[in-house]
Amino acid sequence: MNVDMEPKVLIIGCGVAGPVIALLLKKKGYTPVVLEKVRELGDAGASLMMMPNGLKILALVGLADVVTQQVPHLGELRDQTYTGKTIGVSYIPAKWQSKYSQPACGIKRTTLNLTLKNALIDADIEVHEGWKLKTILEKEDSVVAISEDGKRMEGSILIGCDGIKAMSRALLLKEHQIQPEEATYTGLMQTAGMSPTPLSLQKRPGLLNLYGPRAHLICYPVTATTTSWAITKRDLTEAQETWKICSPAEMILERDSLLEDFKDWSSPALELIRGAERIIKYGLYDRPHLEPKLWYSPKPGRCVLIGDAAHPTSPHLGQGANQALEDCYHLSQMLPTFDHESDADISVEDLQRVFNQFSTLRQPRTAALVKGARAQGSMRVISGGIAACEERDKVLSKGWEDEAAVEVKYDSLFKETFQ
Ligand SMILES: Cc1cc2nc3c(=O)[nH]c(=O)nc-3n(C[C@H](O)[C@H](O)[C@H](O)COP(=O)(O)OP(=O)(O)OC[C@H]3O[C@@H](n4cnc5c(N)ncnc54)[C@H](O)[C@@H]3O)c2cc1C
Repeated sequence: MNVDMEPKVLIIGCGVAGPVIALLLKKKGYTPVVLEKVRELGDAGASLMMMPNGLKILALVGLADVVTQQVPHLGELRDQTYTGKTIGVSYIPAKWQSKYSQPACGIKRTTLNLTLKNALIDADIEVHEGWKLKTILEKEDSVVAISEDGKRMEGSILIGCDGIKAMSRALLLKEHQIQPEEATYTGLMQTAGMSPTPLSLQKRPGLLNLYGPRAHLICYPVTATTTSWAITKRDLTEAQETWKICSPAEMILERDSLLEDFKDWSSPALELIRGAERIIKYGLYDRPHLEPKLWYSPKPGRCVLIGDAAHPTSPHLGQGANQALEDCYHLSQMLPTFDHESDADISVEDLQRVFNQFSTLRQPRTAALVKGARAQGSMRVISGGIAACEERDKVLSKGWEDEAAVEVKYDSLFKETFQ
């Protein structure tokens, strides 16, 4: 098969990792095809924080500017008590552009998704919407993906980028004779919204955390005039992470109930809740880490997982999309460049070697971040009363005292082994 053609790469999912790995592999001579279950990608979810490590990868496919030019860059990181007292502040994000070549900034998830989809179309990469993966058939010389409604697509490689509930992950685990697990509910729920940026935040764009009893609020700008916010609370009743936007009636109920719950909180909590133009509610999930060899199918396997399909995380370190982008970079670097004048198709031995190298490199970093994000979430939302809050705030305050230590922490996140 495919002897005189560029190897076809079946990419499952057109979220964040799918389109970016497709664009990177097209540059290396492959023919990517993106298969997405949603019938027409549109308005869904709230926002994402794009950090310098992720933006460096978007820059490689010419898309970092789309994010960085439409929104104020983060200038500060600030922790505050719900009563308005500053726990700690750092202005290091203002240095990130010169230090790491990219700043940090928020973006609406919908804007990012549609930008990525349009970039695929501009690059002449096939995108099939309404194509939901159900089965994978692996052979020595090819892999076949089969959709829920029976459509078949054959390729040389399959990359599972189908997110936290990935079917590709379940199918690969079965190939390893392992019963696929459900995503794990972290016990935390988020209510997120977008609102006009309150006056108090207009002069200092940054990432603001407000810490209160039994709740945490985070906010950051996502356009020149809009701020995205998310409130995290403990909730034992699991709410699926469907990213569905509340209907107008649900929104009024939700907003009124938040206004009542947060009536004692200082600015900008109430302005943000009152100004909400949209609200979504979802549970926060992650999964225990997979051993590196489970990130890809066993021999003669031609399938590999990246992004949330391999290492879904709760959002408290803002690294889900950024780590998915790092995966794209490393996998695309490790796969050979394909020159259709001289090269034959890629062998299963070569693929297994690359997948092993890739997952061995990426698993420790992503597993540590998933664990770190879960711990951060538990620390942020404590169930005790005022005394427990004061204890937590003291610990937080200590973390800000040594500016050099704060810089080192971010260095380890952003100084990856790529430029
Ligand atoms: C609709 C949506 C909204 C989100 N909103 C937020 C948010 O507001 N804040 C936040 O921090 N994170 C959000 N996330 C998660 C965040 O975007 C991801 O953690 C991160 O970008 C990792 O990217 P990924 O490409 O690995 O997975 P994702 O970005 O989740 O992309 C997975 C893609 O695969 C598709 N897919 C799933 N199953 C199949 C299948 N069987 N066949 C074909 N395609 C399939 C999905 O529709 C999706 O487009 C959202 C995810 C989704 C899907």
